[in-house]
Amino acid sequence: MSPPTPQPPVPSPQSLSRYVRQMRYAPLGEAGQRKLCAARVLLCGCGALGSVLANTLVRAGVGHLRIVDRDFLELNNLQRQVLYDEDDVRAGLPKAIAAAEKLRRINSEVEIEPHVADIDATNIAQLADGVDMILDGTDNFEIRFLVNDFAVKHGLPWVYGGVLGSEGQTMTILPGDTACLRCLMSEPPPPGSMPTCDSAGILGPIVNIIASIQANEAIKILSGNAKAVSRFLTVFELWDNRIRQIDVSKLRDSTDCPTCKRGEFAWLEGQRGNQTAVLCGRNAVQLRPPEPMQLSLDAIAEKLVGIGEVTRNKYLLRLSVGDYLITLFPDGRAIIGGTDDIAAARTVYAKYIGS
Ligand SMILES: [Zn+2]
Repeated sequence: MSPPTPQPPVPSPQSLSRYVRQMRYAPLGEAGQRKLCAARVLLCGCGALGSVLANTLVRAGVGHLRIVDRDFLELNNLQRQVLYDEDDVRAGLPKAIAAAEKLRRINSEVEIEPHVADIDATNIAQLADGVDMILDGTDNFEIRFLVNDFAVKHGLPWVYGGVLGSEGQTMTILPGDTACLRCLMSEPPPPGSMPTCDSAGILGPIVNIIASIQANEAIKILSGNAKAVSRFLTVFELWDNRIRQIDVSKLRDSTDCPTCKRGEFAWLEGQRGNQTAVLCGRNAVQLRPPEPMQLSLDAIAEKLVGIGEVTRNKYLLRLSVGDYLITLFPDGRAIIGGTDDIAAARTVYAKYIGS
């Protein structure tokens, strides 16, 4: 048994006053705000969607936000990842850390808990421990199916969101009530079947729209207004100014969903989802150690002197050598920039860091 999760402190009338404009909105009110201030949320991914989700929820006064992101910042993120700025890129910060620093300046009353990590079947239970709901800020269907398994199994609401090009979609999942992600699509799209952000690009405005809808759904759920959540899959085709709403209210009753009807959790049990190692739109590959580990970045930095240009901060070590940029995290993960070939990335890792 893990120890009981500490609850965020009850807000004082003074601290509630900063939310006066939204408390005046009758369906939320002071009672809803108090619930929001006591709520705990897991945000999976803090890139484009995650930036808007975190910003909106922290300003709205959610009690505790746990942010998990596996990546670090690059200049080409700033076009759509609205929490970050050029200083964060220059500092080479992981997104979760840069987000936490910014969010604490926005609202010091919210507990922000950043984790630089990749969500998988081995750590999702720990990362979701004690939360009231999960928000999808990833760009990755393997993680979404894992989140869906976990959320359905444990009865946690979650909100799916995805964007590509100028299109985006979102759906709210209340386990046992609404359809789940697997009711909607029985399998993740096979690799290569979908356009990627490499081929389709991505525009900033659609990110803000989809994430704002997701954040609004979260505010409903966390303030005790889950009855008001959308029963539609909402699809925006923003460049063409088209909005489609697909009624999914009968979907759960009409499918024999392996996840929410038959209780099969293949992603959570680790039978599915090796996680695509090629990072979308990055010309980079993520490599993970087979077992959890703890590296001494100092010792590795010493070893690499003279091999290439080494830079490091508290959270990561970076080696620039030839055409490659190797970023190494203390948990043994590495992101190999300069290739989208997994075998080539493994060779580079073995050559410079070790096998
Ligand atoms: Zn289902």
